[in-house]
Amino acid sequence: MIEIKKYRVDLIRIVSMAVALLLSWLEVWKILASFDFIALAATIIGGYPMYEEAFEAIRRRKMTMELSMSIAVIATLLIGNFFTGLVITFFVLIAELLEDFTVDRGRKVIEKLVQLLPDKITVRRNNEEQEINLNNVSLDDTVIIKPGSRIPVDGEVIKGNSSVDQSSITGESLPIEKIEGATVFAGTINQTGVLEVKPTKIGRDTTFGKIIEIIEKAEKSKAPIQKTADKLAARLVYFAFAGAILTFLFTRDIQSTISALIVAGACGVAAGTPLAILAGIGRTAKEGIIVKGGIYLEQLGKVNTIVLDKTGTLTLGIPKVVNIKTFNGYNEEDVLKIAATAEQHSEHPLAAAIMSEAKRIAVRVNEYQDIKYFPGKGLICAENGNAILVGNSSFLKENFVEFNSDVIKYLEEKKESGETDVLVANNHLVLGAISIADVLRDEAVPAVKELKKLGNKVILLTGDSLNIANKIGEQLEVDEVQGEMLPQQKLEKIRHLNNNRKIVAMVGDGVNDAPALIEANVGIAMGTATALALESADIALANNNLNKIVEAINISRQCLNVISFNFWGTVAIDTAGITLAFMGYLTPLLAALIHVVSELVFILNSARLFSKR
Ligand code: ADP
Ligand code: MG
Repeated sequence: MIEIKKYRVDLIRIVSMAVALLLSWLEVWKILASFDFIALAATIIGGYPMYEEAFEAIRRRKMTMELSMSIAVIATLLIGNFFTGLVITFFVLIAELLEDFTVDRGRKVIEKLVQLLPDKITVRRNNEEQEINLNNVSLDDTVIIKPGSRIPVDGEVIKGNSSVDQSSITGESLPIEKIEGATVFAGTINQTGVLEVKPTKIGRDTTFGKIIEIIEKAEKSKAPIQKTADKLAARLVYFAFAGAILTFLFTRDIQSTISALIVAGACGVAAGTPLAILAGIGRTAKEGIIVKGGIYLEQLGKVNTIVLDKTGTLTLGIPKVVNIKTFNGYNEEDVLKIAATAEQHSEHPLAAAIMSEAKRIAVRVNEYQDIKYFPGKGLICAENGNAILVGNSSFLKENFVEFNSDVIKYLEEKKESGETDVLVANNHLVLGAISIADVLRDEAVPAVKELKKLGNKVILLTGDSLNIANKIGEQLEVDEVQGEMLPQQKLEKIRHLNNNRKIVAMVGDGVNDAPALIEANVGIAMGTATALALESADIALANNNLNKIVEAINISRQCLNVISFNFWGTVAIDTAGITLAFMGYLTPLLAALIHVVSELVFILNSARLFSKR
């Protein structure tokens, strides 16, 4: 609302000044015999916002464009050149209006995301259905979701069944069946049936709300490049002053002096830079790429090395149990039951595979007394006086589990299979090996190809065995592969790359990736990553699509290009302008024209990013 009002005020000013200009052009002033008065009045009234900002700048002892332009306008008025003062003010206001307009458009992109949620929702309260504002929903309500409408809360289905399009959150293109007990997310679309949902999280606490919050924060945080831009803008103003003073000392020509002051703009960097970054964040958000701050967009634009995790990142992370091999006289169900008992609260993708297989053949899990996770290795679980070990072979060996010849032979045979074997042991005895196959994401191969095409070195780091790592690495044609990497080793690899002047983006999903995600110049987490990974990352892919990394890099590079074009363009034009003024080729009017036209070019150059594909 406030925004609209502000526009109206500016528009009124601009229109009134356009009228004043027209009057002067038609030389109506001859008739009115008081044009000077009109021009003076229009300059003062129309330029009021500019003077206000200039005054603010004096108060804070800061040199700004508004201040230098105000000084220039006052100078033109003092030497009786009212028409020029009017034109300059007019141009400055147009430039500011355009800037407001484009910045506002950026905000709209973000607002549109918020609007993915309905305003009014239907709930059952005290056994009565009623329509309420989304803001008033409480955890005690039952939310009734009609077919075709957006789900407004995170929650659990308590009645009904339907399919839900979750692409906005998870990127899965196919709708997911939801029955009683299923979890639904705010921002997703209910398709076929009516669902009754008990909210577990509302408003800002939902996954969707968190995404919005991150984007809003990102929009407010300042990228280093923005600070550089602010500094440069301030310097340019001093530059203009120095130019003006020199011009005056050498030429003693007041017109040229004022021209020198007027011609130098800094809008291209002062406004163009934040605008470009806002556009970048808005555009990435639209693509489901959540960038936590302008700084990461800037960093991403400079990245030349991409480190990829395997499980859950390059692979779907919804692996399936394909085989259970048993040893030492145990049967498959025993092995599965023991593994599931240990994995029941694990967030690991392999744990999910074991749990869903256990559910499928309806084995019941036991309770356990204690559990210890070893990221990148496995876990140890205390159950009824036994120590259950679930994990990879080196982890079991470390913990003194004995591998008899059967086990060794089996593992040898499985080497080339491409399946991950999760070993299950009870104390020192291997009970079985659960073979789990996880398929590469559809876009993994083309995405890696694109990343390489963009000039990046692509490295695969995984906690999984060397064999599997190599196999996947070959399929993807990455530049380097390392397997059996523990969390600390992943981090050290990144540190090593950094020390070799590589700018690194790390992409991961697991707890074991968190240290590396923090260490990398840019940490990128998959949308379905564990909470810790999401927290540690600088960028999250809401919809898990690896192509979005390519997209994000492209957008960030475009941003940096635009910023540096504006940067050098501004410096070039200011230098040329001041030189011309010094040599006496500029009138204040021409100087104002050059100033405003160049600023418009730079602002439009940034604004272009909003619509680019
Ligand atoms: P990546 O680095 O490719 O994402 P992880 O580090 O998540 O892979 O896992 C590395 C290996 O550690 C897995 O292949 C598995 O053998 C073992 N592992 C880690 N956590 C678990 C777990 N919770 N249950 C079973 N095995 C596990
Ligand atoms: Mg992983």
